[in-house]
Amino acid sequence: MGKKLYHGAAYYPELWDEKVIDEDIKMMKQTGINVVRMGEFAWSNMEPKEGQFDLSFFINVINKLYENGIETVMCTPTPTPPIWFTDGHPERMYVERDGRVMGHGSRQHACTNHSYFRERATLITEHIAQAVRSLPGVIGWQIDNEFKCHVSECMCAACKELWHQWLEERYGTVEQLNEAWGTQIWSEYYHSFEQVPQPGHAPFLHNSSLSTMYQLFSMEKIAEFCDEQASIIRKYSGAPITHNSSVMFSVDNEILFKNLDFASFDTYATIDNFPAYLINSDLWRNFKKGKDFWVMETSTSYAASLESYASPHPNGYLKAEAAAAYALGAEGFSYWLWRQQRAGCEQPHSSVISAWGKPTVGYANVLEVEKMRKEIEPIILATRPRQAELAITYSDRAKAFLKTESHRGLNHRALVTDIYEKVLSMGIHRDLIPEGASLEGYKVLLTPFIPYVSSEFLARAKQFVENGGVWIAGPLTGGRTESHTVHTDQALGELENTAGVEVLFTYPMDNSGTIGRAFDVSAPLGMWSSVFEFDQEKSVGMIEQGLSEGKSFINEHCLGAGKIVMLGSMPQGAEGALMLQKLVDHYSQEANLSLRTDVTKGTIVAPRQGDGYSVWFVINMDGNGGSVTLPMEGIDLQTNRKVSPGKLEIGKFEYRVIRINDKECFR
Ligand SMILES: [Zn+2]
Repeated sequence: MGKKLYHGAAYYPELWDEKVIDEDIKMMKQTGINVVRMGEFAWSNMEPKEGQFDLSFFINVINKLYENGIETVMCTPTPTPPIWFTDGHPERMYVERDGRVMGHGSRQHACTNHSYFRERATLITEHIAQAVRSLPGVIGWQIDNEFKCHVSECMCAACKELWHQWLEERYGTVEQLNEAWGTQIWSEYYHSFEQVPQPGHAPFLHNSSLSTMYQLFSMEKIAEFCDEQASIIRKYSGAPITHNSSVMFSVDNEILFKNLDFASFDTYATIDNFPAYLINSDLWRNFKKGKDFWVMETSTSYAASLESYASPHPNGYLKAEAAAAYALGAEGFSYWLWRQQRAGCEQPHSSVISAWGKPTVGYANVLEVEKMRKEIEPIILATRPRQAELAITYSDRAKAFLKTESHRGLNHRALVTDIYEKVLSMGIHRDLIPEGASLEGYKVLLTPFIPYVSSEFLARAKQFVENGGVWIAGPLTGGRTESHTVHTDQALGELENTAGVEVLFTYPMDNSGTIGRAFDVSAPLGMWSSVFEFDQEKSVGMIEQGLSEGKSFINEHCLGAGKIVMLGSMPQGAEGALMLQKLVDHYSQEANLSLRTDVTKGTIVAPRQGDGYSVWFVINMDGNGGSVTLPMEGIDLQTNRKVSPGKLEIGKFEYRVIRINDKECFR
């Protein structure tokens, strides 16, 4: 990829004739679209009959686009195996938990672990890679599309066999599996790996170990398929490879992106939930640290399918979204989709151009994005996003644990987004980092909602603390073992020793009348909680009322040059939110966090680092305008005028770009 900012759209030329394609290319140029993503559902166009490959259609379109200055991210079409693959072959199809076998149609209907699927996927990808390898228009690759967005764990016979192999590799002997899973319970004891069932339809809940391990197996297998596809492409093409993912899908993004070249995501959050849009940039930036990511799909106005539609964006919001993405580390910002689908199940979805070739309700906003892109491109290319000083641990493995053990409908994405939103609204620059990420350069680490804390993670977190960091662990963190069972040495296992706490009880506090007090705020406590023995020196949060009155729910423990703070419970309601923010504020101050502003809620500051200077992108996301205090004189890079220190106002959905000649100090 070249040194530029990409402004793109998903394109489906296989649905249109040559006249429309020519018209599309002309309009793309007028609109400022400089890249398209193509091919991800076009298997039957590329291989209409089994073994008959014909890539000429796409070669022609890629070349035409390139002659007009539009580059291509080429996709592999594996989410939609054609009828020749599926017809008469139920054994190749995805099987649901209740045993129902998928029929042909829609997408993701085949089992991605079936050996014949892998064989045909290898062949089609090999043919595409060979066919387009020398085309200058191809600047990148996307493997498949949104793995596991409609489906999760397949229960077919092929998966069953692979599951047994996976278990054998993981546990060695079935005796060790029996021990780890505690299979003496309910007479689950197995005499061989072949006897271990898939967690299919059952009268009541499965063993937690079985449910969670099957999810991890499925997540590893889909990443393995992705790696397999990437290695085929790499035989022919040096262009970087990605996959378009999301926090919502049944994948482990950390494993998935490990062997890919750049990270990308799809998001359709509406303005009411703009933190759920922003969280992606702060997370995907860190799946391939130091590399730009792409927003591979977002709507120009509203997401829709035959049976749903979202509210359209207000005018101006799309520009704010795009500015935020570029400022937070995106190289590409791409719509789903260019021309409205004329068929299929997503006909109502918003687009750049209608099916009849006219600008849509979002079109003027796309033009605004293009104007903004041109304006900020040199600034973005000369700077890099700043690493945050505060990180939040993000774990899709924890998502699997919470899916198995959801208590009262806990939703991993909603929980993490809620914590994120609190930090965001405090004006703190933040990173979401996967479990395996380096902790170098951070001052505060938040690790909420991670039931299983691995020894490896714990060792690194401990070192981070010894070197002066503040690690805030909880709520819900540490109470389960690797195999998703309860610790039997102490409630939180190894974490409990490291954190210097003694857990007396664990129980659900929701609606139990429990009130906790910390940082001068009293709030009801909820969720599955750990109660700590009161300790004059360590207790920071006291339980004032309830079953554990007089005990503690927040403890801090000094270790080396830093501190571990255990948050044993989830403060609830408005007071609880205030308490959490006070907690983060307290430890951020203690840790001397400097990447923080007083930006008003609904507006963000995205800091970037140039050579000896900083650039602040100040962007209003909520449409209400806002302000931030500028600590020193700056230069407004849009007008090249000096800006005085003090209050900087920002209008509805506006963005301002301020250069500050200061290397380190943020406020
Ligand atoms: Zn399967």
